[in-house]
Amino acid sequence: ITILGIESSCDETSASICQDGQILSNVIATQKVHEKYGGVVPELASRAHIQNIVPVVDTAIKESGITLNQIDAVAFTQAPGLIGSLLVGTQFAKSTALALNKPLIAVHHMQAHVLANLIGVHKPEFPFLCLTVSGGHTQIVKATSPLQMEVLGETIDDAAGEAFDKTAKILGLPYPGGPLIDKYASEGNPLAFSFAKPQVPGLDFSFSGVKTSVLYFLQKQMSEDPDFVQKNLPDLAASIQHTIIDVLIKKLKKAIQQTGIRHVCIAGGVSANKGLRAALVQLGEQLGVETYRPDFQYCVDNAGMIAMTGYYKYLAGQFTGLEISPSARASW
Ligand code: ATP
Ligand code: MG
Ligand code: FE
Repeated sequence: ITILGIESSCDETSASICQDGQILSNVIATQKVHEKYGGVVPELASRAHIQNIVPVVDTAIKESGITLNQIDAVAFTQAPGLIGSLLVGTQFAKSTALALNKPLIAVHHMQAHVLANLIGVHKPEFPFLCLTVSGGHTQIVKATSPLQMEVLGETIDDAAGEAFDKTAKILGLPYPGGPLIDKYASEGNPLAFSFAKPQVPGLDFSFSGVKTSVLYFLQKQMSEDPDFVQKNLPDLAASIQHTIIDVLIKKLKKAIQQTGIRHVCIAGGVSANKGLRAALVQLGEQLGVETYRPDFQYCVDNAGMIAMTGYYKYLAGQFTGLEISPSARASW
């Protein structure tokens, strides 16, 4: 079974070919236009998707070595995301499915982030827990099968990726700041400064207080020494990263203890973070559970995870009609 997967939910245009559960190609075009605005500009994102989608799909097919007529179905991100961005991928997927006379498969982006853990050789067994940490979401998900998932807890305000990006912005770093915090953190002391860790009951999260805590701390320091950030960038990055990871890992630990599930994954853009990856391994050793994380290229937005989810939906016969519309929000 050969699936063409298409991802366009935010600012990555991506296409992938998945054959019998193996990813043959995964092409990602990251849009650079947003950098100077300090965040994703929806209208510019839609236009960039329109420019990127044909060459990206074409390259994914060429790199996979398959021919167009080998494609059995077209899978695409239907929700959630920026509506204009989703529309481009949805229309392109519909047109391709119609032209090839093949079925269409609608994929939920957050379900796909979780299933990125099934790509490759080192895979979790069901049931597993997944901490999904991305630009718009922070969730602890229980997966009982590829297509059966339940959200056990999620953020009540900012997402973990947002906490990285917004604190990075306060430090004067360009967008997206998450990867830069990761980079500077490797040279800093995680215990140099301490920031607020908002407490929320159960398995839910809150991150908006971290950003405020960093802001107030820096306003005070900068009034005494305007070069404070420049002089302490690695220590600040390491301390911010440590604060966010600590909140995430504590809740994940609680979820493992509450459910007794022995296979634990992370997913989403923030799962590329070196500190979080190391903390997960440490947690696994501490609790005696198996841990997993996607390869870097399958952490951030990518079509490999969409094609993979499409493959499982194909096996389950879950197809959609050409009348389907994308949606910015979607429940599970
Ligand atoms: P969602 O999946 O919730 O709709 P999204 O698709 O925008 O949101 P992703 O592309 O999965 O999110 O992840 C992007 C986020 O990951 C950004 O906030 C980015 O800063 C963060 N990120 C990427 N790499 C790292 C890293 N190494 N360390 C910390 N954060 C990172
Ligand atoms: Mg992105
Ligand atoms: Fe995403």
